[in-house]
Amino acid sequence: MFDALTFDNRLLAELPGDPETGPRRREVRGAVWSRVAPTPVAAPRTLAVSREMAQALGLDEADTASEAFAQVFAGNALLPGMDPFATNYGGHQFGNWAGQLGDGRAISLGETVDPDGARRELQLKGAGPTPYARFADGRAVLRSSIREFLCSEAMHHLGVPTTRALSLVATGEDVVRDMFYDGHPRPEPGAVVCRVAPSFLRFGHFELPASRGDTDLLRTLADFAIRRDFPHLHGAGEALYGDWFAEVCTRTARLAAEWMRVGFVHGVLNTDNLSILGLTIDYGPYGWIDAYDPEWTPNTTDAGGRRYRFGWQPAIARWNLVRLAQALSPLFGDPAALQAGLDAFGDAYTRADRDNTARKLGLAACRDDDIALIRDLHALMQAAEIDMTLWFRGLIDVAGDGAMPVDPAPLEPCFYDPAKRLAHDADLRAWLARYAARVADDPLPPEARRERMRLANPQVVLRNWLAQQAIDRAEAGDVSAISELLEAMRRPYDDRPERAAFSGKRPDWARDRPGCSALSCSS
Ligand code: AMP
Ligand code: MG
Repeated sequence: MFDALTFDNRLLAELPGDPETGPRRREVRGAVWSRVAPTPVAAPRTLAVSREMAQALGLDEADTASEAFAQVFAGNALLPGMDPFATNYGGHQFGNWAGQLGDGRAISLGETVDPDGARRELQLKGAGPTPYARFADGRAVLRSSIREFLCSEAMHHLGVPTTRALSLVATGEDVVRDMFYDGHPRPEPGAVVCRVAPSFLRFGHFELPASRGDTDLLRTLADFAIRRDFPHLHGAGEALYGDWFAEVCTRTARLAAEWMRVGFVHGVLNTDNLSILGLTIDYGPYGWIDAYDPEWTPNTTDAGGRRYRFGWQPAIARWNLVRLAQALSPLFGDPAALQAGLDAFGDAYTRADRDNTARKLGLAACRDDDIALIRDLHALMQAAEIDMTLWFRGLIDVAGDGAMPVDPAPLEPCFYDPAKRLAHDADLRAWLARYAARVADDPLPPEARRERMRLANPQVVLRNWLAQQAIDRAEAGDVSAISELLEAMRRPYDDRPERAAFSGKRPDWARDRPGCSALSCSS
């Protein structure tokens, strides 16, 4: 059983570790990792498995259905070659330097290598305290674990770079959380997610040694990250560091553009939540856009400043890269390479955003005046309270036949407020006429246009209320809700009428419900 899993723990082998083992809370200096075992739980029960992730790891159904699987991926047992550890990082949280943070409740089991050399780190989230747990318990509640499990895989199906999830295992133990931060803590069921990524290194891993003036450790870590996670980069010295930083900037730019394409709001874009590989990482109080609103943040902690609101994500991604550049600056005699990397961010973002504009609108290429076309559309969508996902999907039918005047019928299901729909009727018709004229002037044949739009505009995304419904059902004992929702998130660009229950607009009951409209960091 589990024979396909072979481990080669390079992070442990090649980076300096903490001489102390175990979860005693502490400052750890001069080391990137600490050995710490998961804390066993009472009654592991596998609630959901990603079959795609399991297959990629070479695990079959007999493996994932076994009692041993639940034991291992709850943190009660280790497979040969596993060597659990937590890593040490810092971060800027909400704009302020927060010092050492680290994997407070994430414990990596090891790095698997498959026959073609692909490397994947398996990491348990919620498996008990580590040296980096500070004042907290190292655990995770079922509701937030369901959200992380589902969204990791939904993002993957959407084609957006992300950490993955293999499994969701209930612990059989309660965790106490004050969900609304209102002084009413209550016990909730606990769970462990096994997440999977080639690397879990974050910007904050580099910031911490830099903040301590430990340039040797910073260099060792940068060399390791390049060697293990960017093996296609060659060269040496500053030139290599410069190429590497530029690639981190480019990947981060593409990631931010993808979030904007699909309507994802991360919610906590602190530097400790940005992956060096440009993956979406740390699913917490994230949310999905229903009615288009660049001002919206799902995170209640962020409600005051709305630093992490939808429309600001590209700017915040860049702000985080500036922090990374500062951290890496001791490796550079000449800061020009760092500036070049930041410039590469701007170029890559602009390119990706224009490409997304062309694809979402079904145009062969984005011309300069298409920028105004999409900007005006966004303003209209915000003012008229238009559902983002339904609009772009509906637009496929509007664009297809190139008829004038445009019939807005396929777009009628996108509106949340009939009064706003009516108030903006003239603007809507004016925009559609402009769009139709632009389409008429575009070289793509109708079928190719439809296909291009279909592949850029998903039929479904993991809307907040969908996840909340699955959580409600799972908390009431019906865990099949999780796998049903995951199934609905597969092949999101296909037209699949059988998933109508998952592809509609946000229902009224979800408008102001916690978990649907706003989420706390309590998890
Ligand atoms: P987050 O806001 O979830 O990215 O977490 C920020 C920091 O708090 C990270 O260092 C986490 O590991 C840590 N953390 C969050 N929740 C817990 C918990 N329940 N136990 C231990 N550490 C936690
Ligand atoms: Mg985090």
